[in-house]
Amino acid sequence: AAMLALAGCGSGRDGDSGSNGEAAKGFAANSLIGVALPAKTSENWVLAGELFTNGLKEAGFQGDVQYAGASTTVADQQAQITAMVTKGAKVIVIGATDAAQLSTQVAAAHSAGVKVIAYDRLITNTPDLDYYVAFDNFKVGQLQGQALLDGMKAKKPNGPYNIELFSGSPDDNNAGVFFDGAMSVLKPEIDKGTVVVASGQKDVKQTAIQGWKAEGAQARMDQLLTSTYGSKELDGVLSPNDTLARAILTSVKGAGKPTPVVTGQDSEVESVKSIVAGEQYMTINKDTRNLVKETINMVKALQAGNTPQVNDTKSYNNGSKVVDTFLLPPVAVTKANVVEAYANDPKLAPLTK
Ligand code: BGC
Repeated sequence: AAMLALAGCGSGRDGDSGSNGEAAKGFAANSLIGVALPAKTSENWVLAGELFTNGLKEAGFQGDVQYAGASTTVADQQAQITAMVTKGAKVIVIGATDAAQLSTQVAAAHSAGVKVIAYDRLITNTPDLDYYVAFDNFKVGQLQGQALLDGMKAKKPNGPYNIELFSGSPDDNNAGVFFDGAMSVLKPEIDKGTVVVASGQKDVKQTAIQGWKAEGAQARMDQLLTSTYGSKELDGVLSPNDTLARAILTSVKGAGKPTPVVTGQDSEVESVKSIVAGEQYMTINKDTRNLVKETINMVKALQAGNTPQVNDTKSYNNGSKVVDTFLLPPVAVTKANVVEAYANDPKLAPLTK
């Protein structure tokens, strides 16, 4: 998990290159920019690929957008990054398939003079990562935890509430950060006894779903219902994203149980429909268009020989260094604000009417 670290470095450095007469060290405007994305484990990754392809082209770069394959994702991504360095990419943007398995490739990129930007997911245990751009992952978790409490209270004013916890893939640094954010809200209630994790499975390791796979979440929920909810009522489920939320709801429906309050993330089409229909309780809006735009802005700054703008220089210690980060704000969405939340999203807005 990303640690909260104290660091005094790197503040106020935006766009100041050349001011003291130094030659700006940019690169040619039509340079190759590599984008190495993970497997398409959720809709936002599909969208990111399209947006990078179009956005880099519009900005005058040659884009090389690659996805890690569905099975051998780590080796695929490592090979793709190595090939991008060989092809002469000036910047490589990486949505890591495994946070801890890229330090060799990132080091090789760095020594070839390539700038490396971690996109959405942090890359850990490397001093060679230059920037990180993401939605505020801890805040995502906090919003999920708070929505879970609010949703259960709205249905049943008095607890105690029985809940179960799910977290994402252990190789994705975000999974632990989402979970920690949610637990920062839920743990005080669990300690007071107003919220009960009836299975007793409260540790991030017990709750993890390898590869963010829907079938993994469905199988774990099936098991929990059998082991723990024969007669008990399940009031809520902390789900880290929409794909897993829908799998959890499928499991609960299959068991013939009433729908619990289930959280999510990503504003996936089927989940937005489910929220409008009153099934899934919430999701998070992390507008991929903005995240890709900020990333391309970083690339443009580097091209011009400037220092990209960051707004967080202390939250993301990757184990080797505190990474200069640009964080965007995530937004919680429930049925109550679904119309406003997607008003400017041409794909989602029609679903809310
Ligand atoms: C992203 C989430 C996504 C998950 C699975 C995470 O790293 O931040 O938005 O749901 O990966 O693809």
